[in-house]
Amino acid sequence: MATALTEKFSRLVKTMSGQARITESNVQDMLREVRMALLEADVALPVVRDFVARVKEKSLGQEVLGSLKPGQALVGIVNRELAATMGEGVSDINLAAQPPAVILMAGLQGAGKTTTTAKLAKHLIEKRKKKVLTVSGDVYRPAAIEQLKMVTKQAGAEWFPSTPDQKPLDIARAALDHAKRHFFDVLLVDTAGRLAIDEVLMSEIKQLHGALDPVETLFVVDAMQGQDAINTARAFKEALPLTGIILTKTDGDSRGGAALSVRQVTGVPIKFAGTSEKIDGLEVFDAERHAGRILGMGDIVALVEQVTAGVDVAAAQKLAAKVKSGAGFDLNDFLGQLQQMKQMGGLSSLMDKLPQQMAAKATEADMTRAERDIRRKEGIIQSMTPLERRKPELLKATRKRRIAAGAGVQVQEVNRLLNEFEQMQGMMKKMKGGGLMKMMKKMGG
Ligand code: GDP
Repeated sequence: MATALTEKFSRLVKTMSGQARITESNVQDMLREVRMALLEADVALPVVRDFVARVKEKSLGQEVLGSLKPGQALVGIVNRELAATMGEGVSDINLAAQPPAVILMAGLQGAGKTTTTAKLAKHLIEKRKKKVLTVSGDVYRPAAIEQLKMVTKQAGAEWFPSTPDQKPLDIARAALDHAKRHFFDVLLVDTAGRLAIDEVLMSEIKQLHGALDPVETLFVVDAMQGQDAINTARAFKEALPLTGIILTKTDGDSRGGAALSVRQVTGVPIKFAGTSEKIDGLEVFDAERHAGRILGMGDIVALVEQVTAGVDVAAAQKLAAKVKSGAGFDLNDFLGQLQQMKQMGGLSSLMDKLPQQMAAKATEADMTRAERDIRRKEGIIQSMTPLERRKPELLKATRKRRIAAGAGVQVQEVNRLLNEFEQMQGMMKKMKGGGLMKMMKKMGG
């Protein structure tokens, strides 16, 4: 199941291979791919343009160090720039105010405001040891008030009653007064949802902001919201002095490009990410992980770095040259490949870094088994004489029995290894070098 992105990534690397630095001409092709990846992730077009221009400026003329090929280096630059853009100024909820610290929740209907209000209440109670009161200013949907009551209870916070016949401003003032008199540390104010930007509701939330003077005004936005996130964010930014963003539904299958759009348009940090419908599904926003997700490649950059750090480049080139010259791929080379796989930090840690869809195919147990398997194979090859390793065709029954005994395995296992070796040999002949990346691709495919 080679995803479009792994393919894209491999193509990217291939385009750049053999080149020593990122230049004006080679960067264009790669930036086109990056642009596509961002658009596919639903980052808004103007934001994509801006971002690509920044990356171009940063990457031009960069020396590509050591074993890192320009393709990989560029992906590294893109990933870091994405993470830096989204991660700048990340901080926990600001409570530096005369208690009660008021937190105003804003966003479209269905974005997850009510759910997130309760999640945040739980976070502030458990992690910051605060006494938290919630209140709903949504007088348009009686069900919204009830919903907040219910989730507030789950969060272990207190809920301040409100009814649909009240004015939101009166509710807010009464809740603030109650919070002061009962020594609450924090008052979380959930507000009326709007399906789209609506002048009346916008002016209402502006009024609420004026009356409450919140220390945090959080814009709650659905990570699944596509291109339109930028317009919503812009409207809220114009109406309110936002202080942070909470990105909800990051457990959905969208690539979450809204994060970049919204971050760029509002200029405020993404503080938390919603990770499930449940009350504890809230995490501090992890910009790096999210950057990988937008690019659609998990921790692929870290993976590339790990692979290139672990692999003996000189040895790989020697092997490539040998295969190319037709000198053949022998069991010593096979052993070398096995050892390189081990050096890459262990297969399980490598798997952790693959995109989720890929890694899902390999369970922990699979990996442990694979690692043990590698050690057994090493043992078998190490029981062979140097001549046998160079000329595997010598391996007939007697020799195989001796080797099996030496390695403490059955003869069948020796046969299996030899079969595998022959397959690899065939593959090597076809590939003529550059084998490792292809092998990696195969592992994911
Ligand atoms: P509001 O209209 O903005 O108050 O939105 P709600 O809090 O009522 O949430 C709308 C829907 O999104 C509900 O079904 C929530 O359970 C769901 N939801 C909110 N946050 C998340 C999240 O992080 N992950 C998932 N999977 N669902 C969420």
